[in-house]
Amino acid sequence: MSSVSATHIPGSWINGAAVPTGGAPFEVINPATGAVVATYALATPADVDAAVAAARAAQPGWAAATPADRAGVLFELAELMAAEADTFIAEEVAQCGKPVRLATEFDVPGSIDNVLFFAGAARHLEGKASAEYSADHTSSIRRGAVGVVATITPWNYPLQMAVWKVIPALAAGCAVVIKPAEITPLTTLTLARVATAAGLPDGVLNVVTGSGADVGTALAGHRDVDVVTFTGSTGVGRKVMAAAAVHGHRTQLELGGKAPFVVFEDADLDAAIQGAVAGALINSGQDCTAATRAIVARDLYDDFVAGVGEVMGKIVVGDPHDPDTDLGPLSSFAHREKVAAMVSRAPEQGGRIVTGGVSPDLPGAFYRPTLIADVAEDSEIYRDEVFGPVLTVRSFTDDDDALRQANDTVYGLAASAWTRDVYRAQRASREIDAGCVWINDHIPIISEMPHGGVGASGFGKDMSDYSFEEYLTIKHVMSDITGVAEKDWHRTIFAKR
Ligand code: NAD
Repeated sequence: MSSVSATHIPGSWINGAAVPTGGAPFEVINPATGAVVATYALATPADVDAAVAAARAAQPGWAAATPADRAGVLFELAELMAAEADTFIAEEVAQCGKPVRLATEFDVPGSIDNVLFFAGAARHLEGKASAEYSADHTSSIRRGAVGVVATITPWNYPLQMAVWKVIPALAAGCAVVIKPAEITPLTTLTLARVATAAGLPDGVLNVVTGSGADVGTALAGHRDVDVVTFTGSTGVGRKVMAAAAVHGHRTQLELGGKAPFVVFEDADLDAAIQGAVAGALINSGQDCTAATRAIVARDLYDDFVAGVGEVMGKIVVGDPHDPDTDLGPLSSFAHREKVAAMVSRAPEQGGRIVTGGVSPDLPGAFYRPTLIADVAEDSEIYRDEVFGPVLTVRSFTDDDDALRQANDTVYGLAASAWTRDVYRAQRASREIDAGCVWINDHIPIISEMPHGGVGASGFGKDMSDYSFEEYLTIKHVMSDITGVAEKDWHRTIFAKR
């Protein structure tokens, strides 16, 4: 695997080429070491205008390509991504501090699989059958590409989030302008370069780097885009929606989460313990679906807390380049401070820190896996998104109480229920308000199935055929089949001829 050296990179990719940008200088920092990985100049609102103009000009031609032609480009993109997997892995590790095992086994193959899925899906869009719903007409449905998509992505899974937003839009015939998080632009820029090499026409995929307040606001509120999609925090998502609403643009929002992890009294305790550690610590807990609120049957509570504490204590925290490392740093020093501050306030609100709660003695933005038991239902650590390697635990009295606690959140992205009782499993999957409910597992995702939340976790779907709904229009075509000039229904409007 190659390593990333601190080079100066062009800040944007517009109309099929790297474009130097004129904004303030910016450094991409490796959070594992504090070293500078790359420097670039932030994009400006003028760059957003150029990117949107390029997308607007390129979109009709791309939409006119046959589904087979679009699929061909996406299949080639998947092949080139596989050929450049080492570059994507090195960039994700360097800019996020992501453990190399996670980048190699999850981020990059998951992204490639998503591209492959949409390459196939591009060719089998389905709709309602054409039929004579009125005796005098044939009705049919046409699906069309919605146009130009503006998308804004976060720093936790830069490549996967870019792929989830960009690829279904391209498969549907849209052109895209994407703004990655300013601290993690590398893999999104590489994706655009590789897509151009795969034959994507110039202007169909454009990247503008830059700050949220400046470039993000300009993109979300741009008059000439048709849809604004966003993955990030709930607060920023609402600002993006407000900016898009000025022009009445459609939005899709994938926002924060606070996933419950419900362990019923008949659960396989060992499986629940292993699942809780993996579900809470994936990507250093910087995962919108991460297990954050363990809600455990009273009879199992002490053993669960002891078991999770023991496994967390064995987690290897350190150099993300080392394949033996389990947990890398948080994505930035600023974010580590936020996580540490939230954990430090937890004991004042009744939480008992069982393990962790400290930064290890390492130069990067590391934070130890942290388990906080006995948290109060109204405490900040239990209610607000921490987005770090932190699991809280509470007990419940009966199934009603368990499901009440699971739903006692503004978020609704993901949840899991741990039980060997099929009726309990069915009830939990029916009653927990979330975009995904796992039974006896927590975290796995798959390209064929949708991802997206309810409530403060947003609306709309990434992945799967469902995501096409964000990128397609629905047109009803109704054709007269009588050939009659004076139609019966005209009498409703003018009775005397
Ligand atoms: P964030 O909301 O701070 O930033 C996300 C993106 O929005 C970045 O590109 C940022 O530059 C941009 N931005 C910031 N202010 C903006 C503004 N005013 N207008 C337009 N754009 C603006 O989120 P983050 O800290 O990068 O990521 C973490 C958050 O993302 C967490 O809340 C997490 O739950 C969420 N997330 C959700 C999903 C999901 O699928 N639901 C997936 C991953 C992350």
